[in-house]
Amino acid sequence: MTTSIKQADRDVAGGLAEEAVERCVALANHSETSIGLTRTYLSEPMKSVHRDVGAWMREAGMEVRVDAVGNIIGHYSADRPDAKKVMIGSHLDTVHNAGMYDGILGVVIGIEAIKSLNGARLPFAVEIVGFSEEEGVRFSSPFLGSTAIAGTFDDSLLARTDAQGRTLSQAIGDFGLNVDDIGKCVCPAGELLAYLEPHIEQGPVLETENNSLGIVSAIAGQTRMLVTFSGEAGHAGTVPMRTRIDALPAACELALYVERYGRCITDLFATVGQMTVEPNVSNVIPNLVRLSIDIRHPDDETRRVAVTQILMHANSIAERRKARFAIENRSDRGAVAMNQGISDVLKKAMQGEELPAPELVSGAGHDAMIMAHIAPTAMLFVRCKGGVSHHPDESVSIPDVADAIRVTAGFLKTFSTSTKG
Ligand SMILES: [Zn+2]
Repeated sequence: MTTSIKQADRDVAGGLAEEAVERCVALANHSETSIGLTRTYLSEPMKSVHRDVGAWMREAGMEVRVDAVGNIIGHYSADRPDAKKVMIGSHLDTVHNAGMYDGILGVVIGIEAIKSLNGARLPFAVEIVGFSEEEGVRFSSPFLGSTAIAGTFDDSLLARTDAQGRTLSQAIGDFGLNVDDIGKCVCPAGELLAYLEPHIEQGPVLETENNSLGIVSAIAGQTRMLVTFSGEAGHAGTVPMRTRIDALPAACELALYVERYGRCITDLFATVGQMTVEPNVSNVIPNLVRLSIDIRHPDDETRRVAVTQILMHANSIAERRKARFAIENRSDRGAVAMNQGISDVLKKAMQGEELPAPELVSGAGHDAMIMAHIAPTAMLFVRCKGGVSHHPDESVSIPDVADAIRVTAGFLKTFSTSTKG
């Protein structure tokens, strides 16, 4: 009997998963570009996305509102008045030439999970949120949607302009929202019992280990910096090799060291992604090379040690080669651990579906990092093909999405028994 109920649940989730994927594909048509998908913060296509997502939320039994920074929120009421709430969601904006699932899938999974409840109410309200802005494309500042809800929105950003010269404040008005209401976006402390974010993994770990889903233990901290080596320009055919101060080999030595160091430390990601060479002329010895270094690790101390080691090595390269060395634009962001209790609820839901519950670290930033400041937060990763993301080739499978919908609904049910005590 239990087996047949489980099978029926699986069939229902399979149908919902097909619908979820169809919906992600449909939303990809709302783009600022005719070819590929680009949908930035408060753009015209975001209006039509709100129209579709709002309709799906209403169909699943939710009341829908759009707050002053453009987050769309579907409210599924509790079985009692004055109940607290659980939020589930992710973001609806995209990068340039994006895939169809990054962010969007998490919102759609939340809606399908509510739909699978068939109107059954829980001892808490559930809000499905489609954050308006996570990627930071339009105003070069990420997390505008979630910081407004968390009460950490930076008002000084309102004067910042986009590529067309529109300020953030004007963009909010253009979208038909009132900038004076941003304070009302805040979710009052204590009102939120939990936040869950389903999201594609954006990496290959689940696929490699043959798991459909995983639990995020922490979002890695990150240091970004720009390192400059300065040498002396000169003629490629006349300056003797032994007296040159060539900035490019110095930079290349450092890039190789960054890679070597990254390979030696478990869970460390160390990347040189950019290099600019001056004067960048084939017959002139380079006198200046800038390279970007991006270091990520779930443990802040390990990351700090890595940064120190790499900079010490950079210094020693510069000394040996008689080049000058400088660090610019360094930014540090600490790691954010997910909540153990809420992650355990997620684990129970996965075990209830007879799924393994592997833990993994997120190297990418997510709205969950912001929401973790105001609510116990967990993240559910969904396997994506080849670990590819931020690219049109992003792909998920319907059975994996069905697992994610069942686990998200199971999370709500498990959490409702645990909150009853
Ligand atoms: Zn995302």
